[in-house]
Amino acid sequence: MQRKDIGKMKINFNQLDRGYLKHKNEYDEAVITTLESGWYILGEQGQKFEKKFAEFIGAKYCVGLNSGLDALTLAFRALNIGTGDEVIVPANTYIASVIGITENGATPVFVEPDEYYNVDVDKIEEKITSKTKAILAVHLYGQAANLKRIKELTEKYNLYMIEDCAQSHGAKFEDRTTGTWGDIGCFSFYPTKNLGAFGDSGAIVTDNEGIYEKIKMLRNYGSKVKYHNEILGVNSRLDEIQAALLLVKLSHYCEIRKERASIAERYITRIKNKNIVLPQIRNRAEHVWHLFIVQTENRDRLQKYLLDNGIVTQIHYPIPPHLSQAYKYLGYKEGDFPITEHLANTIISLPLYEGMTEEEIDYIIETINKY
Ligand SMILES: *Cc1c(COP(=O)(O)O)cnc(C)c1O
Repeated sequence: MQRKDIGKMKINFNQLDRGYLKHKNEYDEAVITTLESGWYILGEQGQKFEKKFAEFIGAKYCVGLNSGLDALTLAFRALNIGTGDEVIVPANTYIASVIGITENGATPVFVEPDEYYNVDVDKIEEKITSKTKAILAVHLYGQAANLKRIKELTEKYNLYMIEDCAQSHGAKFEDRTTGTWGDIGCFSFYPTKNLGAFGDSGAIVTDNEGIYEKIKMLRNYGSKVKYHNEILGVNSRLDEIQAALLLVKLSHYCEIRKERASIAERYITRIKNKNIVLPQIRNRAEHVWHLFIVQTENRDRLQKYLLDNGIVTQIHYPIPPHLSQAYKYLGYKEGDFPITEHLANTIISLPLYEGMTEEEIDYIIETINKY
């Protein structure tokens, strides 16, 4: 159109159809086969996915659910954590981590992050009281939290450990996959997640047969046998079409993961701008690059500059849970978690997704280096 637009690209924050188109035939076939099967909820596809996903994570059991939030909510419920109980949770996280706790009537107790944006394990112990029942470890942005230290604390104080793995499919700490360190691992397959479905869905994994049986009942109105409702449950069932689609995606997850890692590596080695702080990788922790977060003092200015150059970015997350309107009743105010609040004002997420072209990646790098 205009001369100054020559050489300018338009890059969305996500472009989910790219991943679909790469294996279109397989996804299409999975849907059609399921439609033709005449069985749409709690069937063969769901069972097959649960088995494959448990194998992939290295857990004994998996239960497919409606969403990542349901995974968290039902995890606390299965452990009888509720009113009067406290759960330690990172202050720097997505609000769903906290809702899983408060949905059960329990109280979230926030802990500031470390330089890797995950919970600062040196600040957990001072928050443990006689009411503390569990620690929720969140592996934010795709990088495992320091699970060894968290595990030591849960053993010392006899607490449960639940893991929010909504952003960390397949990431490891030392030689164990996230989701297998705690009592229950909670996953989301929301479309933008690394292992994303084509609608809402989630799952829990566990090695504990009792927990497995209980969550299987909870997701289906509290019944094992139809119309025999033993406990009060909900409707949170992974449907057959999503399960069939997830089976296809899981079969390609190895390549998806490599692709995300290579984009991240390109950003890390080639972004050179003294105003931009790149993400750090923790020793012994694996990063699966759900999000590529950089930090900069004048964040809104950078975001506008990138947008003016056609690059859409996002903030994960602009308002920490303790300052959200929804949690006003907890009584927190600005300044209570200064590290988290500073992050909320200085972080920005760059596009990183399946099917990005080299041209797009390089354009983003060059544009940032010129900032
Ligand atoms: C996405 C997400 C969830 C919730 O998953 P849904 O499937 O959207 O319910 C929970 N925790 C974290 C950290 C997430 O990123």
